[in-house]
Amino acid sequence: MLAATIAGSLPKPAWLATPETLWAPWRLPPETLLEGQRDAVVIALHDQEQAGIDVVTDGEQTRRHFVHGFAERLEGIDPARRTRIGIRGDRYVAEVPTVVGPVRRSMPVHVEEAAFARASTTRRLKWTLPGPMTVVDTVADVHYGDRARLALDVAVALNAEAQELAMLGIDAIQFDEPAFNVDAYLGDIEHWGIQALERAIEGVPCDTAVHICYGYGIKANVDWKITLGGEWRQYERTFPLLARSGIGQVSVECAASRVPLELLRLLDGKGVLAGVIDVASLRVETPEEVASTIRRVLEHVPATRLLPCTNCGMAPLPREVARGKLRALGRGAALVRAELGMEAPA
Ligand code: ZN
Repeated sequence: MLAATIAGSLPKPAWLATPETLWAPWRLPPETLLEGQRDAVVIALHDQEQAGIDVVTDGEQTRRHFVHGFAERLEGIDPARRTRIGIRGDRYVAEVPTVVGPVRRSMPVHVEEAAFARASTTRRLKWTLPGPMTVVDTVADVHYGDRARLALDVAVALNAEAQELAMLGIDAIQFDEPAFNVDAYLGDIEHWGIQALERAIEGVPCDTAVHICYGYGIKANVDWKITLGGEWRQYERTFPLLARSGIGQVSVECAASRVPLELLRLLDGKGVLAGVIDVASLRVETPEEVASTIRRVLEHVPATRLLPCTNCGMAPLPREVARGKLRALGRGAALVRAELGMEAPA
């Protein structure tokens, strides 16, 4: 009950990649990179276990980018052909891989890395994958000319990967869909975004989640949030659709955000991964602050469906800040469990 978890990514050690940099280049040569990445996975798991995180991840230590890490290994996507486009409703301009043919998963993408992480912890293990709509929004397409059709093929590829990850003992698969919070896409989410997500989770025999955030704490996002006004109500459109979908859990921002928490009531029946750690600030929350955010969420979500979480990934943060935030999250969840007389999750 009240199992603590994280959105996904953690900072990488400075010997592996440039610190405090999003999508940082690797610092190890090809011949030692895999060994270094695996050592970093062991450390990321250890840090979470020490901090009392119940559902852990590999900290995304083997990926540079949460979308390209998956997309570039699919048939039909050319990683070498980069195209400059506006993404997330033109919030940023990015150099992205190009879709040049039918998208297919001709081989496993993260399966070996996931098997290594599975063998390295006895805790419940979550694996993150990009959501289909966010993949479509982070590639340039010169083949389909139809975002909905491309999304469905991406979803089929994601589904094959998710099935294989579940078979090797991953306990939860989370699809990251920051594109779901872009106002300009709300119509597309209704028309094909949710349908593509449903295709990605079809028949997946473990917990499934979707992560919908307001992004990393980088300047483009901080500036964007200012334009969203006093109340952020994007979730109001997507939550009722998700409540009717087959997705098991929804990961949302609650810490230091302007999301009215009563919107969480629209997620009736779903697990709620409530962000109680702000990833856009270097200040480490106290366990009492975390507990107080959890208590505010509990006014709208029963404890049986609530999993305290971070708002988003912590990849760009200094490592010691991220470690402090992990500990605050673990202790804050434990404080509320103790108040409610709940057992720690097995
Ligand atoms: Zn996020």
